[in-house]
Amino acid sequence: MIGSHETATSTARSAPATAWAVAPQHAEYDVVVVGGGPSGATAATDLARKGRSVLLIDRAGRIKPCGGAVPPALIREFEIPDALLVAHVTSARMVSPSNQEVDMPIEDGYVGMVDRDVFDEWLRERARACGAERVTGTFDRIDRGADGVAVVHFRTKGDDSSAPTHTVRARAVIGADGAQSVVARTALPDVAPAPYVYAYHEIVRSPVGADAANAPKFDPARCDVYYQGKLSPDFYGWVFPHGETTSIGTGTALRGFSLRNATSALRDAAGLGGALTVRREGAPIPMKPMKRWDNQRDVLLAGDAAGVVAPASGEGIYYAMVGGRFAADAVQAFLETGRASELAGARKRFMKAHGKVFWVLGIMQKFWYSSDRRRERFVSICRDKDVQKLTWESYMNKKLTRKKPMAHVRIFFKDLAHLLGLVRA
Ligand SMILES: Cc1cc2nc3c(=O)[nH]c(=O)nc-3n(C[C@H](O)[C@H](O)[C@H](O)COP(=O)(O)OP(=O)(O)OC[C@H]3O[C@@H](n4cnc5c(N)ncnc54)[C@H](O)[C@@H]3O)c2cc1C
Repeated sequence: MIGSHETATSTARSAPATAWAVAPQHAEYDVVVVGGGPSGATAATDLARKGRSVLLIDRAGRIKPCGGAVPPALIREFEIPDALLVAHVTSARMVSPSNQEVDMPIEDGYVGMVDRDVFDEWLRERARACGAERVTGTFDRIDRGADGVAVVHFRTKGDDSSAPTHTVRARAVIGADGAQSVVARTALPDVAPAPYVYAYHEIVRSPVGADAANAPKFDPARCDVYYQGKLSPDFYGWVFPHGETTSIGTGTALRGFSLRNATSALRDAAGLGGALTVRREGAPIPMKPMKRWDNQRDVLLAGDAAGVVAPASGEGIYYAMVGGRFAADAVQAFLETGRASELAGARKRFMKAHGKVFWVLGIMQKFWYSSDRRRERFVSICRDKDVQKLTWESYMNKKLTRKKPMAHVRIFFKDLAHLLGLVRA
């Protein structure tokens, strides 16, 4: 396994080059994984490593719109080579509605920045190197053979209905096809989809040389996070440096709010109004795990398709990969025992590990992002060194440290004082 992993590692940072197969090589697979983003590629890798026959179907041709910020826990747990990080961010600047700026330096750590075209392709190539078969194609639907086994229909070369259609039989299907999952819609029609925030960003050339002198607020090693109602009425705006490029964007669940205008205002505020625009793009970010992730038979969702993104932060890459891994384990247990109930294990395990954090972040988003008065207080809380330490530790390691219980107690009382208005911003 490590040998094949190294093959993928050696291609880190190179542009997507692999020609995908245009048709599947077999008529039947243990598992068909739909979607080759972080969750699908992780699930395909893990199942191939377990010796399963895996077909990974991904609709190529579009770079996933994403800020690309990932925690060190992801790098460690999913063995990501450092070469895939285009920047190591070492602090965040929180900006309040009244333009109060609070810097949160990271002690002993960093936030990694990945470019999704290169990162996702590397993950898919690792899946292939581990034994999964890759095809470029668009999932269409699942129907059933006379024996009840899932038959997956997909088209190759483009999305138009005249494209060649292929069918393969699958003992299990993982739907990792993102926030607008067709697998979820067609295979789990009785489960309500997740609510979402719509996010939009512009990729610009990072200022260097003389341009950098004209953009004094820009720091290539700092993420700026704007909590201002005019930039987002219910989420936040961001400036995330990625080495040669920078992602500037914002999001909202509110229909009718102009994300383009807000991003333009954000670019001006960050001193990047004149920077060369490379791409403009947007996509929904789901904000709540769906109530059920499997069809109680042979289909299981993972990542954005299951609604799994952390509220308040919009962090989804790490959780998509964890979801992909848990989906692989659950499908493996299902294939070994034939018990469809094993599929529910993926959600149970995920909620046990991260459900509490999602719940707290959901409350935070509802409370602190609801008015400029509260945003002002929220940013001022971030001045607190205990808050900074705890925030970074839980972001970077994805677990709360138990080493300093008094820090948690202190923060609890400070938060309470802020909530009750006993502390003025
Ligand atoms: C603007 C924006 C900024 C973000 N910033 C961050 C950030 O900084 N950090 C962070 O952690 N998260 C961020 N997120 C969230 C993060 O991008 C997602 O949570 C993450 O990509 C989810 O991974 P996934 O594999 O579940 O889905 P995706 O990454 O969406 O992958 C789905 C894959 O399925 C494929 N697919 C879709 N439909 C089909 C089909 N019918 N047939 C075949 N293939 C199909 C797609 O081509 C894609 O490759 C951001 C999201 C947005 C929109």
